[in-house]
Amino acid sequence: MVDIDYYEILEVSREASFEEIKKAYRKLALKYHPDRNPGDKEAEEKFKLINEAYQVLSDEEKRALYDRYGKAGLENQGYSGFSQSSFDDIMDFFEQVFGGGFSGGFGRRSEQKYPLDLAIEVEISFEEALFGTKKEIEYSYKVPCEACKGTGAKDGKLTTCPECHGRGQLYYRQGFMTFSQTCPKCEGKGEVAKEKCPQCNGKGYEIKKEKITIDIPEGVDNEDRLRVANRGNIGLDGRRGDLYVNIYVKEDEHFVRYNDDIYMEVPVFFTKALLGESITIPTPRGERELKLKVGTKDKEQFRFKNEGFKNVRTGRYGDLIVQVKIITPSKLTQEQKELIKKLESSFGIESKPHEEKFSSIFDKIKGWFKK
Ligand SMILES: [Zn+2]
Ligand SMILES: [Zn+2]
Repeated sequence: MVDIDYYEILEVSREASFEEIKKAYRKLALKYHPDRNPGDKEAEEKFKLINEAYQVLSDEEKRALYDRYGKAGLENQGYSGFSQSSFDDIMDFFEQVFGGGFSGGFGRRSEQKYPLDLAIEVEISFEEALFGTKKEIEYSYKVPCEACKGTGAKDGKLTTCPECHGRGQLYYRQGFMTFSQTCPKCEGKGEVAKEKCPQCNGKGYEIKKEKITIDIPEGVDNEDRLRVANRGNIGLDGRRGDLYVNIYVKEDEHFVRYNDDIYMEVPVFFTKALLGESITIPTPRGERELKLKVGTKDKEQFRFKNEGFKNVRTGRYGDLIVQVKIITPSKLTQEQKELIKKLESSFGIESKPHEEKFSSIFDKIKGWFKK
């Protein structure tokens, strides 16, 4: 049999932390759990492998052995993989890992009416994204209703569903065929509330509000997602999901982010651009000297290294890119006109590039009309 890499099975990197491994295991184990894939041999095999991989990688000593010597290393130390053990052993292991939450089997899980993970959106300013910030946010999450223990039924009292008579399925005929459908009234459970729980109006949960302060890291970008562990909804078994914070960065009037660079436009009077003067400009990180060069052109860009956004993944900084916008006057006084004329004539032929460029064209065109 070909050895399949345990890290690959759990879809984690070799450097994955215990938390990451556990999370990957939970996700995959739930996906391939036999209760969810009845009769699917392939899912069952996969489920076995996932449990085997987790049994090794969740144990520091076994993981170290495996990293150095592979499966053979484990077997030499007397650890036998799950490939030899019975399916009941695997189920025992699975329930051990997940505690009592799954002891009732997956049938009970369907009573969980809402997902445990929760997502909210937080809008921040350009500046907050650039420097990072702490934000206090208030959000709502769900907890099972205490009065009815999450059943939605008054005093938790249930009665046989009148719609499906407890079968959980509705059957109907069309021609010679009989179709079945999950009963919408009881959602397949076969039981409904005798009376709606007055506390939660039959929903089975209550909404609670909570305030937390979240750390928004320097350099966070639009549509980045932050995870706050154990701040989601609370399930029937008391487990709490995670809170996902989707970041939205408001557009700034002066600065634009592109990848990790910041772009800004600076209006420059044409004489300063011509002379190549230095001007003081306001940038997101304070005032800077912009050294223009002689004859700076419109839309020319100047780069300030490492003055952009910090990349949250690599930790490296982008640049600040300043684009010049040349401003020319639209009105001149008599005196200004004369001064500029004087300036122009001092350039001689250099002030007439249009003539130089087109003189050859004029000659050519003349040729067309000969004869
Ligand atoms: Zn209730
Ligand atoms: Zn029903």
